[in-house]
Formats: sequence, C-alpha cells, structure tokens
Amino acid sequence: MRYLIISDIHSNLAAFEAVLADAGSFDKVWCLGDVVGYGPDPNECVERLRDLPHVCVVGNHDWAALGNMDTEDFNPDAKRACLWTREQLSPSNLEYLKALPKSLVEGGFTLVHGSPRHSVWEYILNLSIAEANFEYFDTRFCFVGHTHVPIIYRHRPENPKQACDTLIPSLDAPLVLGQDRLIINPGSVGQPRDGDSRASYAILDSDELTLEYRRISYPIEITQARMVEKGLPVRLIIRLGFGW
Ligand code: ZN
Repeated sequence: MRYLIISDIHSNLAAFEAVLADAGSFDKVWCLGDVVGYGPDPNECVERLRDLPHVCVVGNHDWAALGNMDTEDFNPDAKRACLWTREQLSPSNLEYLKALPKSLVEGGFTLVHGSPRHSVWEYILNLSIAEANFEYFDTRFCFVGHTHVPIIYRHRPENPKQACDTLIPSLDAPLVLGQDRLIINPGSVGQPRDGDSRASYAILDSDELTLEYRRISYPIEITQARMVEKGLPVRLIIRLGFGW
C-alpha cells in the first residue's frame, strides 16, 4: 500500500492541491492534524480531505477551532486566525473535526499530532523530548506533526549516554525503514517552518517499508491574496513566503 503522509495543512488549499497533484497515486492518506488554523480556506481543506480515503488525528488548531480549549496559549495572530476559523467552519465540518481521535494505530504505525506522550499539545523539539517519548507508544514507528519541521528521531537504547539521535530526511533517495524505532515528522503542507517555503510531505510504501520525503512549490501568492481578502494577520501572510 502507498500512503500519503501529511500534516499541518492549516487551511492552505493551494498547498494541499499541489501536494495531491505531486503525490501521484496512493491508496490512503494519513493526516496528522491541524487541517485548519492560520490559512484562508478551512472549509475547502476539510472537504478536500473528507473526499479522499483517509484517517486523521486531531491537532491543537483543530481543537481550538472547535472551542474545546482556551486560545490564551496562542500568540495574538494565531488566536485571531483561530477565532476567524471558528466562525467560518460549516456545521458539518465542525462535526467532522469534533469526531477526530487524538491518536491512531495503523499497521505498525502510531499517528499523533504532537507527541505520543501528549498527543495534541507537546512539541518534539529536541533529542531529550524525543527520547522520553519512545516509552509512550508500542509500535516500531510513530508519525508526528506539530513543529512543521521535517525530521526523524531514532531510538538508540543501547547507547546509555544519548539514547536518541536524528536522521535528516533526504529528498534524493527513499529511506528504508529497518529495525530501529523511529519518530517521524513529514513537515507541514501549509506552513513550513524550516526555512524552505515549499510544501512538505512524505510517501510511505508499506510493502517495501520505504519512506520518501518530498517538497513541492505551490502558488504561495494565491494563498497570500486570499488571506489579505479575508483580513487575516499580516505576519501570517508574510511568513509563508519565507517558510518560517
Ligand atoms: Zn500546526
């Protein structure tokens, strides 16, 4: 089976469409949450995803758009975009987001938005956070999103000094998934934050057990123009052009 692994679409339909066009054929989508928030097309993105064979876990922005949590922890721009998103979402799309699980196990893979330990909120930002999280899932592999940065953490329990290291995803050749336990972040479709403005995603071949990282350019100016039209915060519009 070929799985399209995506995360953090963030209401950016132009980026999402570019990823779908670039991905070629796939059997199913695994979406790691934050379908909405920040961007101009929340209903369109939810509906595009709903039309595909897929599973999806809930992200903090999806949750916030449901009014499930206080947006006080968000910075002012994220909060404004969140409140706007909440007003836009159709009743049917709100119901869809409300029904999303916090974590899923599919085959040998755990899927969460933030981390296996705190599925909606925790950011896996460094080796020590990653290392601690290997205790919190039972499968060999775990997919996470949330940081918007493509990266792979590898468990090295035989090394007492540093029981975790990182693999920098290569765009040149697929990674063969072996015996090592991994926490894998495919990066963000709709708001990359690693200094590369192109949409980021991955393709998993579950028969070959290979993972291919990909980046694809999309018409950022279309998303930016739609954000201007909707009166979304300027800082959120600008950052898309820089990938931060
Ligand atoms: Zn996000």
